[in-house]
Amino acid sequence: MIFETHAHYDDEKFDEDRVELLSHLLRENGIEKLVNVGASFEGCKNSLALAEEYENVYAAVGIHPEEIDEIDDEVLDWMRKTASHPKVVAIGEIGLDYYWVKDEAQRAKQREWFNRQMDLALEVELPVIIHSRDAAEDTLNTIKMYNNRHLKGIVHCYSYSKEIALEYVKMGWYIGVGGVVTFKNAKKLVETVEAIPLESIVLETDCPYMAPVPHRGERNSSIYLTLVAEKIAEIKGVSLEEVERITYENALNIYNKSKRN
Ligand SMILES: [Zn+2]
Repeated sequence: MIFETHAHYDDEKFDEDRVELLSHLLRENGIEKLVNVGASFEGCKNSLALAEEYENVYAAVGIHPEEIDEIDDEVLDWMRKTASHPKVVAIGEIGLDYYWVKDEAQRAKQREWFNRQMDLALEVELPVIIHSRDAAEDTLNTIKMYNNRHLKGIVHCYSYSKEIALEYVKMGWYIGVGGVVTFKNAKKLVETVEAIPLESIVLETDCPYMAPVPHRGERNSSIYLTLVAEKIAEIKGVSLEEVERITYENALNIYNKSKRN
């Protein structure tokens, strides 16, 4: 039984088979629950619609750093209202992406809205899903500040060092591990998985992107998460069942509103 913590089934790449996947195919392949994560305002609304339609689908609402020009007070108000929906389990994905954005003013804008969405998460008492690329230091500093105020979350598609991962683990945050861990050049992520406890890992695809080997480059779906779980089991020297069971509990812990601390 697998908990998929990060998917984008609203993406047009699923137009052909979204209904089959979400109504039965994923379940038949062991994917028990999933969170569809909003990145744009449109994506947030579509995530909510999917969560309302399918029992095993939950939603996260947030504006991705690359889509930050879309956000304003009105969008933030919509998120605030939507957060009380019973199937909205997180604010995300939010964060910093300095890989694509070199302009300092735009980076400052990312930081401003990252903080404001973190403030919102505190206010509505939901965990966060963090997207962070080429912004290790600014992300860690922000999260430390909010962690002190008891905000928790997942660092999704984790791409930094094992040392930084251990800092997140120490704070009780979760590390999202997906298809990248199966890539030949995934040395850093393999080292991270080795270094951190299984109790701090959640499984995620980021589908339609990041398909694991041997499907690298193809459209990804949660069905391939077994390949990710197998790789983690191999790295940690435990059974596949143990990886599935513990990561499932981890996902329940972070996404369960009543267990938030
Ligand atoms: Zn994503």
